[in-house]
Amino acid sequence: MPSKKYHCDDKYDEVDIHGNNAAFLCPVENCGKVFIVNTTSMDFSSKKCPKCGKSRVTLLPKESKKGGAQGGKILEATIEWD
Ligand SMILES: [Zn+2]
Repeated sequence: MPSKKYHCDDKYDEVDIHGNNAAFLCPVENCGKVFIVNTTSMDFSSKKCPKCGKSRVTLLPKESKKGGAQGGKILEATIEWD
């Protein structure tokens, strides 16, 4: 399964990471869906492409002061696909 890792400080053509939100372009052939993931959802740790379900984004958020990473700024995001 191929995967690609993105860091919050870098600029990418196909991914935008801003604070606790990230927009991804699904890399699966014939899909190309853009979808948003964020760390404020209860299931923030990973989200499948809502169109094809064949790619999955996993976020690595910074720990917040309150403890736990929910709502934290995204440090790194990984997308895997079939
Ligand atoms: Zn897709």
